Amino acid sequence: MPIDLNPDPKYSKAMVVVAHPDDAEYGCSGTVAKWCNQGWEVVYVLCTDGSKGSDDPQMTPERLTEIRYNEQEEAAKILGLKTVEYLNYPDAYLTPSLELRKDITRQIRKHQPDVLITTAPFRTLGQNYGSSHPDHIAAGEAALSSVYPTARDRLTFPELLEEGFEPHKVREVWVMSRDDADHYNEISEDDMNVAMKALAAHTSQVPPEAIERVISWKKENGKKHNMEYAESFRTFTLR
Ligand SMILES: [Zn+2]
Repeated sequence: MPIDLNPDPKYSKAMVVVAHPDDAEYGCSGTVAKWCNQGWEVVYVLCTDGSKGSDDPQMTPERLTEIRYNEQEEAAKILGLKTVEYLNYPDAYLTPSLELRKDITRQIRKHQPDVLITTAPFRTLGQNYGSSHPDHIAAGEAALSSVYPTARDRLTFPELLEEGFEPHKVREVWVMSRDDADHYNEISEDDMNVAMKALAAHTSQVPPEAIERVISWKKENGKKHNMEYAESFRTFTLR
């Protein structure tokens, strides 16, 4: 049985840290739509510029980034996000560096989320190969290391204090997960419709059959747990 760990009712701020424009829409946009619908403030932090996802020989990295950022802004509008923060690291070259950790920490301290969602910090062999893109692994590792200990500890990256960013404690971390999930977040049909509209906004990346696949995967998740639709996470509560 899944553990029912809906976030504490006093929480109302979330941050989603992912590598690419469209990662959040694939993995957790139902949850984001649900929380925005409930009045939460949700912020995305996009680590890379999405500048590599094209087979078109005429495409340039600069043009692709512009297209993908516009698609992400459109998705954000559909979902009702507070804002999207762009860290602008080059797509496909992301590593869980101290520099990336500092940049994510800055965003955590700035927006002070109660709950942070990110991707898995490791490769899972039993899964679809594409879900273990090295940038996803790097973004997940850097985000988890930013929550603990870096965003919490004032003596780490003292320059952030000088910039005015005081330490912040994130209360829950939700890692998008299939094999290791301990929480299935119920998503209504209405929220799923909004989420899939946001996914479809990534027109340069997401063909209609991919949207169908995501819908049936989340429906399948839900069916196993007597829910209409569900998104799966491995969750951590920090004391
Ligand atoms: Zn991706």
